[in-house]
Amino acid sequence: MPATALILLYLGLALTPLGLAWAQGLPPRTIWDELASGLGLVALAMILVEFGQIGRFRAVTARVGSDVVMRSHQLAARVALVFAVLHPFFYVSAMSDPPDWDVTRQTVVTYSWTAIWPGILAWLGLGMVVTMALARDVAGYRYEIWRGLHGLGAALVAGAGVLHALRAGRYSGDDLLGWVWIAGLGLALAALTMIYVVAPALRARRPWRVLSVTPAARRTWRLRLTPEGAHRLRYRAGQFAWLTIGRPPFSLNDNPFSIASAPSRGPDLEFIIKQLGDMTDRIGQIPPGTRVYVDGPHGHLTLTGQEDAPGIALIAGGVGIAPLLGILREMAASGDPRPSLLMYGNRIPGQIVCEDELQALARDHGSEVIHVLSEPPEGWSGETGFVDAPMLRRHVAEAGRRDWLFVLCGPPPMLRTVEAALLELGVPARRILSEQFVYD
Ligand SMILES: Cc1cc2nc3c(=O)[nH]c(=O)nc-3n(C[C@H](O)[C@H](O)[C@H](O)COP(=O)(O)OP(=O)(O)OC[C@H]3O[C@@H](n4cnc5c(N)ncnc54)[C@H](O)[C@@H]3O)c2cc1C
Repeated sequence: MPATALILLYLGLALTPLGLAWAQGLPPRTIWDELASGLGLVALAMILVEFGQIGRFRAVTARVGSDVVMRSHQLAARVALVFAVLHPFFYVSAMSDPPDWDVTRQTVVTYSWTAIWPGILAWLGLGMVVTMALARDVAGYRYEIWRGLHGLGAALVAGAGVLHALRAGRYSGDDLLGWVWIAGLGLALAALTMIYVVAPALRARRPWRVLSVTPAARRTWRLRLTPEGAHRLRYRAGQFAWLTIGRPPFSLNDNPFSIASAPSRGPDLEFIIKQLGDMTDRIGQIPPGTRVYVDGPHGHLTLTGQEDAPGIALIAGGVGIAPLLGILREMAASGDPRPSLLMYGNRIPGQIVCEDELQALARDHGSEVIHVLSEPPEGWSGETGFVDAPMLRRHVAEAGRRDWLFVLCGPPPMLRTVEAALLELGVPARRILSEQFVYD
């Protein structure tokens, strides 16, 4: 399903309750009351859809990428919060019991405490869930604790929100819309159950174990896994997986890492992991034989669908080399005849991962490898500085590579600079794939 179809699907889901309310044909109220109800209906629908907009559903991430899914999740959460916050303030009709003649509650707003308290709970809960997510880095919560609280908080908001709609809503009192809310809540909770219970239970039957952990570069490790049993991961070069290392499959401690191995080279998986925080700092001490659970493959950073691109340019910053190494390795292993270019930015030479293998790929497969160092040592003959517009002009535009496919992975500022420069050089947007190693 293309991205536009997903957007249309999203709008359809988010606006369905509003459409069903409108279709009831109830006598109109003041514009402010209608606006208040409309905001509430759309906010609640958006909250329920959020449960499907998380980067764990392969059917979605493989099409649009986890970056896009997470950005849309965050954007929709902010919009839903604004709608939900405004929702109670627009009502202008009296809050009281309706007079006997007003069976459609045209002149009043429901005020009973049993109807209102779930709304207050959902309203405050949504504010807390979104604020905690926005403040996560500043507040420094441990990722796993934050993740657990985020899931629980979201389930509470959804449950309370639906209860409020069913008890208080003028339109949600309708049977059809009421069932739509219950079905939506059921699907939202099913999505959580799928992620935290069903999928881990299935993964428990396909364990992996650590073959080796060896240094790959400065503060960077090469982790190799092998399946315990006959199963294997069916992935495409450039995709990533969530790894639960040395913990039970139901643990909240899983981290995403790009697969750096080539699928056609066998079932073993390789990851290039940079020390960054509490889990990755311990990666070098993981003993061989440690059990690992692999949730994947995810991600869209692959050559699939780009068979008509005449060449492949890979642009990596730091550990962003991991998925691109997988792509280069797969191109060599599968004999992809297209020319390839790797522009690989690092600070110092000690950070370059798999330098010998990259040289061998250049020699044997004809890939052009350009190292870019921002702090080059004396006598360095490669490119210096950062991968920027003038450098891309030389290696892309002047080298006649505008119609190639560009696959980018690295720190967000680098990706922004490179994407903007490529577009400026006339590379079509559909020929630029990028992934940042940030999942928040
Ligand atoms: C799609 C994707 C692919 C990635 N591929 C690689 C790779 O090939 N090699 C590599 O070295 N790094 C990769 N990363 C980054 C890697 O996931 C983080 O560096 C790692 O999870 C940090 O964990 P930590 O506990 O050591 O650090 P912490 O100090 O706990 O966290 C540092 C930051 O890492 C992120 N993070 C931490 N834990 C998680 C988690 N469980 N899930 C998601 N994000 C988390 C958060 O943004 C956090 O602020 C990738 C990230 C993503 C999103």
